[in-house]
Amino acid sequence: MGRRAGAMMTEQRQIKAPEGWGSAVLDFKSGSSIDVDAQFESVIEGVWVSGTANIELEGACARCLDPIEDQMTIELQEMFQYEDLDEKESDDDDLPLVVNDEVDLEPTLRDAVVLGMPVAPVCDTRCLGLCSVCGIRLSEDPDHTHEQVDPRWEILNQLKKEED
Ligand SMILES: [Zn+2]
Ligand SMILES: [Zn+2]
Repeated sequence: MGRRAGAMMTEQRQIKAPEGWGSAVLDFKSGSSIDVDAQFESVIEGVWVSGTANIELEGACARCLDPIEDQMTIELQEMFQYEDLDEKESDDDDLPLVVNDEVDLEPTLRDAVVLGMPVAPVCDTRCLGLCSVCGIRLSEDPDHTHEQVDPRWEILNQLKKEED
């Protein structure tokens, strides 16, 4: 693209979803790919990258443990700085660098994906989870209750049964 400020290019890539980026409850769908659609814009100090990544996820509902599959579009934005900028030209030393006219988008993608993935995915925002007593899905029977029998009455019930 060269260093002419204002130059722009776009690039679409499909990459294999890497392993180990997700969590115990949510990760890339196995064998899926990430569709990256990025725009590169040359600015004075480097290259401004923006775009999106479409990802496919699979995991388990954090409330009821049902398997879930989801698709997400993650926003990408990163400023890459020319590596040979004078110190006075550069106001941020922590920016990733443009090296040999290339940028490494993997760390950007990884940060965006890790931050974008929900920590506690749910099958449905109305999912009520599981009953703590019997384990059925509360969404299927929200009103069901268990008689909480006081253990002291339990003895009386036993005696009553024996009488009957
Ligand atoms: Zn659920
Ligand atoms: Zn129950």
